[in-house]
Amino acid sequence: MNDVIGRVFDFEKRVFPSQNDLYARLVADGQSPKALMISCALTGLFIFTSRLSRRGNAFRGLRHRIVCRLCLHAYEDHGSARTPECPQCGALNERGRDRRLG
Ligand SMILES: [Zn+2]
Repeated sequence: MNDVIGRVFDFEKRVFPSQNDLYARLVADGQSPKALMISCALTGLFIFTSRLSRRGNAFRGLRHRIVCRLCLHAYEDHGSARTPECPQCGALNERGRDRRLG
């Protein structure tokens, strides 16, 4: 900790006075926090939307996939029937999530 404080005092006494013009220029027009904030926000937005898109594609890919609740055979059904028939055992399975208990 003393090393850090010593470096701060060294900066104030030796480095800052010798490069006073540079720091004055950086304060006047060298830094642009608005550009930094906008670029960070755009990067965050891009990451968020790409993850949402990837998640949506995964769910769309699984939309037609059905797992038989009787024999656990996984199959795809592109029909419009509410209860498609399992090709393996012939049981009727409901589409979507099963919200029943048991
Ligand atoms: Zn089945």
